[in-house]
Formats: sequence, structure tokens, C-alpha cells
Amino acid sequence: MSEDFNTHPHKRYNILTGEWILVSPHRTKRPWQGRLEKVAEEKRPSYDADCFLCPGNKRASGDTNPDYVEPYTFRNDFSALLPGGPQEDFEDGLLKASSETGLCRVVCFSPDHSLTLPVMETEDVIKVIQKWKEEYADLGSREDINHVMIFENKGDMMGCSNPHPHGQIWAQLSVPVEVQKKTEHQKKYWERNKRSLLGDYLEQELKLEERIVIKNEHFVALVPYWAIWPYETMIIPRRQMQHIGQLTAEEEKAYAEILKQLTIKYDNLFQTSFPYSSGIHQQPTNNSDYPEWHFHMSFYPPLLRSKTVKKFMVGYELFAGPQRDITAEQAAETLRELPEKHYTQE
Ligand SMILES: [Zn+2]
Repeated sequence: MSEDFNTHPHKRYNILTGEWILVSPHRTKRPWQGRLEKVAEEKRPSYDADCFLCPGNKRASGDTNPDYVEPYTFRNDFSALLPGGPQEDFEDGLLKASSETGLCRVVCFSPDHSLTLPVMETEDVIKVIQKWKEEYADLGSREDINHVMIFENKGDMMGCSNPHPHGQIWAQLSVPVEVQKKTEHQKKYWERNKRSLLGDYLEQELKLEERIVIKNEHFVALVPYWAIWPYETMIIPRRQMQHIGQLTAEEEKAYAEILKQLTIKYDNLFQTSFPYSSGIHQQPTNNSDYPEWHFHMSFYPPLLRSKTVKKFMVGYELFAGPQRDITAEQAAETLRELPEKHYTQE
């Protein structure tokens, strides 16, 4: 990459979505070292009688959670999508609508209220991955489900009011727009080259080593060249797999390890339980073949400079397109150099 790009405004192309992002590196002379605010963070108890997700507690719906000891899934009491219902398409002049059906589930990662992925044991993170696999297979096999979105919103800042370690799954009839974009761009590349777009991208990144954060035998975590969020990352499997159902036992372990290591680095960045939204993008489940798909997990964290200063998506970004100041290379370097041990366990 030209040296000019390190000091001058430029735009970068997202190969997966076909969108551009504006980068303004001249606004930051060097990567921000992070301001550590001495705000005491209370350690949460392992069990909270008022938590809807703790084992044995009553939920908003009136149902009671079992005394679960491993990752536990239940139907979201406030589901955004509902199964069944009328199926209709509406069109009147320029007004257009379609019915949407689906299911929303909650996955409790652990019975222990005090934990998060970075501080869970690797073997317990493996169980979360196995639960995701099980849900992807179960929901994906349904006739009325053509896409399964597995994600986690972590922290108040991401609108997650309950600190109990958990994620969500929204499964639905139609394929959501982000996944449609990614399918289209991977497919175009596959048809031209008979190779995985993300696989070739990963190969180039591994040669350059500028944006790699962590790697192991089966997975790589990097800051994508086109990252929007200050410390956005992506976990990509080295082997092309369309979905998590294809993970071998050895790959599950490697995935759990990199997931834990990456989130430890995140927590260490501003010495806080780092907020983010993460999601696993994989092939739709509508019985078609998707030889072009290469599953990956993206992390979109909002924090910019400290545990309280976040990046706002406002003004230009809302009306024109995303913009960032620190470059993907600077963010990767900062994350790479952080300790591998969790700051609370020092
Ligand atoms: Zn809880």
C-alpha cells in the first residue's frame, strides 16, 4: 500500500459487500494509547436472584429456567419474529410489503452470572460453539427457515441490559440484506476464479501480516482492510467452510481458543468488559448449494478511546457513508501488542 495512504484521506473497498469506507488518518498522528479511567468495576455474583437468565429463576413470560449446567437455549420471550401467521405480499403503487416469519432464541453461554466469554474456560466456550452448531442445524433444517443469524450484543452500550453471558439467534424465512450482499460478492468471485474470496483475502493478509491480531492452526483474527468500527475484527477459518456445522472437533477447540484470546485482548484494551456486537455470517439454509460461502465471525465494538468514549455513527456516516480516523493497521498493531492474560487475572 502506498505510503501516502498512511497520511492522506482515502477510501477503502469492502470486498464482501461492495461498499466503500472513508479513512482519514491525518486526523490522528499516531494510535491512541488509551486512557485508563479508574472506575471501579464491581465483580458480579455467580448467581443473581433478579436475573431472568440465571438457572432456576422465573422469566418475564412466567416460565422458569431449569437448573441448567451447560449452555441453555430457550425461545425469546420478546421475539421480534413469530412462526406461522399470515403469508401475504402487498403492493399498492410505490408501497410494498411482505409477511416475515421466524423464530428468536436466547442462548445462555453459562449458568454462571459473573462470567463472559473471555473469562470462561476454553472447554466451556467449546460447549457454546457446539450449542450454536446444534441450533444452526435444528433451525436450518426447518422448511420455514432459510437463514439463521447467530449473534451477541454485549454491554449496556450495545443495548444489552442483562449482564448474564448470553447471545441470540434470529432465524427467518427470508435471507437478510447483509447476507444477500455477501453472497453476491462471494459468488461473483467464485464464478470467475473457482476459489473462495475470503480464502484468497486471508492468504494475502497472512503474507502482509499488517492487520493480523492472532492466529492459530485453524483460525485467524484480523482487522479487515475495510473495517468501519475503530477496533473491528473478523475471525476467519483457514479452511473454507460454508457454515459452523462443518467444524471438526479440533477446529471447534481452535475456534474457542481464538474467540477467548480475542475477547481477552478486547477487555485488556481499556481494562473493561469490552462491549461489542458479534455475529456469525454463514450460508443461508434454503437447501441450495453455496460453494462460494466462507463463514466468518465479525466483531463491531463501539469504543474509541476509553471505556466511556465511543465512536458515534452520525452526520456524514448516516447520510453519506462510514468514516474512520485510526487506520485498520494501527488498530491491529494496538490489539496485537496487548497482553494475552486477562487484566483481572494478573
Ligand atoms: Zn444471571
